[in-house]
Amino acid sequence: MGDSVKYLLGEDRIPKAWYNLVADLPEPPPPPLHPGTGKPIGPDDLAPIFPMAVIAQEVSTERWIEIPDPVRETYRLWRPSPLIRARRLEQALDTPAKIFFKYEGVSPAGSHKPNTAVAQAFYNKQEGVKRLSTETGAGQWGSSLAFAGALFGLEVEVYMVKVSYQQKPYRRALMETYGARCIPSPSPLTASGRAILEKFPDSTGSLGIAISEAVEVAAQRDDTKYALGSVLNHVLLHQTVIGEEAMLQMADADAEPDVVIGCAGGGSNFAGLAFPYLREKLAGRSRARVVAVEPASCPTMTQGRYAYDFGDTGHLTPLVKMHTLGSSFVPPGFHAGGLRYHGMAPLVSHVLHLGLIEAKAYAQTECFAAAVQLARAEGIVPAPESSHAVKAAVDEALRCKREGKSETILFNLSGHGHFDMQAYTDYFSGNLKDVPFDRAALERALAELPVVA
Ligand SMILES: *Cc1c(COP(=O)(O)O)cnc(C)c1O
Repeated sequence: MGDSVKYLLGEDRIPKAWYNLVADLPEPPPPPLHPGTGKPIGPDDLAPIFPMAVIAQEVSTERWIEIPDPVRETYRLWRPSPLIRARRLEQALDTPAKIFFKYEGVSPAGSHKPNTAVAQAFYNKQEGVKRLSTETGAGQWGSSLAFAGALFGLEVEVYMVKVSYQQKPYRRALMETYGARCIPSPSPLTASGRAILEKFPDSTGSLGIAISEAVEVAAQRDDTKYALGSVLNHVLLHQTVIGEEAMLQMADADAEPDVVIGCAGGGSNFAGLAFPYLREKLAGRSRARVVAVEPASCPTMTQGRYAYDFGDTGHLTPLVKMHTLGSSFVPPGFHAGGLRYHGMAPLVSHVLHLGLIEAKAYAQTECFAAAVQLARAEGIVPAPESSHAVKAAVDEALRCKREGKSETILFNLSGHGHFDMQAYTDYFSGNLKDVPFDRAALERALAELPVVA
């Protein structure tokens, strides 16, 4: 498998190109639409908020997109990330399955997110941008962009979902250490923030609200562009370094995955590992099942509708076709902040719709139980988001045990949980409760979906 991949890897074993799944899909994904006209949007519509190089990648149908040298140079700080065989976890589970995981927690910010933050900072710098505005949920994306901004000499302003701002003071400190400014969202600094505060003064915020604030700031200022940490095609593209490296590392280990697993909030780390495997699958070179895992309390793929919707609560973004809970749905304040988004990446939604991947949802306490099991066997403490992938991998391994099968499981451990120890403390003290999913709230939010001809 993967001769093309080997060809595209540098001597440092870091890929030379990102992989664009759009080039190999049996059907093109539905286009994003202008919310005013209902017509497909063009590059000009995105120009106020994104640099041209990023817009070109967003709409590209090229299979391979070369990684610029300064980005590869920066990747070298932590890439290639390790592929680890979880032998002790296999023993603890007493499973005939082989479990491998790709560990993205070795990056400076502690997750996969710098893979795209570095690329986006580079392209913005190249086009003369001075400031980046963005949102962050758990703080992983904000710290990743703050890190990238520091390396490429850009100011970074981060709207942080209020519940996380309160729960994660150390993530904020990390952003400030890298030189970024961190603002709790909803904030009184923007029209979108003020509108929410008027209606819901006690709002704990959501990614949808924070996105509206950050986009508003970028749209209003010439020196400022916006950077998104997930969902969009170019973000998923940048994350494919994970899967390309994994494929070579699995070949080194003489292993082929039967199951490929990633947790999915906006879908980027999942896509980063999975899309290169989907290429192999579509070409008949891989038999892997591909599984995306989401929280049961924000079940976009398993309970949402595949429909055109806004990416944000303030309705400033284009309409994209995706699995969505409705842009007015505010997920409960559970601990995997990075998975609290009402939608799913349009490309991930598209491949789910085409039946190329499976989706699963798990409650948070069962995910923490699996995360603790992994920590006690392998030493790594997963981020609460990543624990969803761990739980799915453990379930697959236990299925293999029941069925007497020695399958190979590969999952992405998207980040470490060193800034999330309060969540672990809550779990151990029994204060972490599984929040029942609010069906009535879902129905209300879905009733407000925009009407698209
Ligand atoms: C942000 C984050 C996620 C969720 O985002 P995706 O775009 O779905 O990958 C998952 N894991 C970690 C560690 C994160 O920081």
